[in-house]
Amino acid sequence: MRYSSYFIPTHKEIPADAEVISHQLMLRAGMIRKLTSGIYTYLPVGLRCIRKVENIIREEMNRAGAIEVLMPAVQPAELWQESGRWEYYGRELLRFKDRHNHDMCLGPTHEEVITDLVRREIHSYKQMPINFYQIQTKFRDEIRPRFGIMRGREFIMKDAYSFDADEEGANRSYEIMYEAYKRIFQRCGLTFRAVEADSGSIGGSFSHEFMVLANTGEDQIVNCMKCSYAANLERAEVRVADEAPASESYQMEPIQEIHTPSMKTVEDVTSFLGISADQLIKTLIFVADDEVVAALVRGDYELNETKLKNVLGCQTVELAGHDLIEETTGAPVGFAGPVGLKVKVVADQSIKVMKDFVVGGNRKDFHIRNVYLNRDFKADLFGDLRVITPQDICPRCGGEIAFNRGIEVGHVFKLGEKYSRALKALYLDEQGRESTIIMGCYGIGVGRTVTAAIEQNHDKDGIIFPIPLAPFEVTVLPLQMHEQTVVESAEKIYRDLIENGIDVLLDDRDERAGVKFNDADLLGIPVRVNVGLRGLKNGKAELKIRGESETVEIPLENAAEIIVDKVKGLYDSLK
Ligand code: ATP
Ligand code: MG
Repeated sequence: MRYSSYFIPTHKEIPADAEVISHQLMLRAGMIRKLTSGIYTYLPVGLRCIRKVENIIREEMNRAGAIEVLMPAVQPAELWQESGRWEYYGRELLRFKDRHNHDMCLGPTHEEVITDLVRREIHSYKQMPINFYQIQTKFRDEIRPRFGIMRGREFIMKDAYSFDADEEGANRSYEIMYEAYKRIFQRCGLTFRAVEADSGSIGGSFSHEFMVLANTGEDQIVNCMKCSYAANLERAEVRVADEAPASESYQMEPIQEIHTPSMKTVEDVTSFLGISADQLIKTLIFVADDEVVAALVRGDYELNETKLKNVLGCQTVELAGHDLIEETTGAPVGFAGPVGLKVKVVADQSIKVMKDFVVGGNRKDFHIRNVYLNRDFKADLFGDLRVITPQDICPRCGGEIAFNRGIEVGHVFKLGEKYSRALKALYLDEQGRESTIIMGCYGIGVGRTVTAAIEQNHDKDGIIFPIPLAPFEVTVLPLQMHEQTVVESAEKIYRDLIENGIDVLLDDRDERAGVKFNDADLLGIPVRVNVGLRGLKNGKAELKIRGESETVEIPLENAAEIIVDKVKGLYDSLK
């Protein structure tokens, strides 16, 4: 590619509305342009990176035996009503009506569509296992689109769906995708971790997120410093503290109501009473499916709604509104407590070993102290309800844990029968009996992978692309465009590299050397070749690797050969 006849609108200025470095650099390097909130055009250089990720994904999915299809972006409401998600999906699902007044939506994901296809086409165990994938544009009306294409509303995703006759097969399909994902992100040249994620009703470790490690990541990852345990924050289990031996020897004081005017927060109450937050229990009122429940956690801990949902075994949990809280507890928000409550009480496991604590009084402006579990109230259910903290230990081996930040680029998930049962995707087994197909789903954010690569690899001058994702592998810079020998030598290297199958950009613009250097650095092209008068006098060009400081001289006569070797070496270093 010749720079002069291509389109790379680079900028020096840092765009004001871009918060994270990848967004700033993608705008400055002329990779993307915003159309409207969360919706972007991929300019030629950005599109090249996207295509590189897609190609790696496609090769590895094909290698893993998945089969490519392409499904529609627009989907009919009926399918979503059948799966039950028309109601549950919320406002990320963009809904509209067609001219016949039919409810439609823009696909945020494709479980319904692929299950509809499979229920029509797959009828026998002999047709499985089968795994369909596509690379397609999704639309999710994200509440806070941000960071450029990292969290867009319209974005490109690779999604795959596996169909198996039995659990064993479904687990194998999951494993195959897990391994394929590892190869994909390895080939992309990224530093990543596969972490356990919440798998809801399926249980077990049948959901993993692939996280690219980066300080700016939106996700928190917990990993053990000793063993291989790694999970996202939402999933990370809290190891039960050893239960304190029941001691009979202390005196239980009677409960006592205390006046706490307008003190609604843990801080208000603890500082007023001169106690620490671990001597108080927070009571949160939720609606779990249709039932009102009270969830209890220690004052210094944070409730994890996903864990609450799993412990209750329900579909949805939602914090109760002001009116319902008042109706349930008899007091306004901030004064709820478990003593005398008439609803189901579910408590975090840490509460089992607490003694003599403070809770809300279920009366405006009152709390109660000297409260004891089992004497003053009972919990209907105990479980792991809270968010893990850095002070906790590894739930597997008891080792020290660390918190890191990551960007979720991929997700593998065993779905079980969730969609196949709802949409009646059935098959006949070997004995001719009808059974439900078992599914898995597997996503990769294509654009997000590019942004994650930039978050992980950049310096003050711009992007430092891992070579597999770079828009060009090599850039050749003729440093004096008015010197015929310079231009001719650069052209020759350019042609030789093309002949060797290298993705090369010749910066043939009539610009100063400094401008060319800056743009090459900004674009993050891994190998730069300078062709200038000074070197040519000795029959030399210069070779520089992006991100490294030294420049080496290479002889002109076998320049292409040396560059090809260098490119190969960069790929090999990722294996
Ligand atoms: P997130 O928690 O970041 O919203 P998700 O759990 O909703 O992600 P999935 O439904 O598992 O994501 O989608 C599969 C992949 O698609 C994600 O791992 C991510 O890489 C990508 N992805 C999801 N939402 C977006 C988005 N708004 N913009 C760009 N990529 C996205
Ligand atoms: Mg999401």
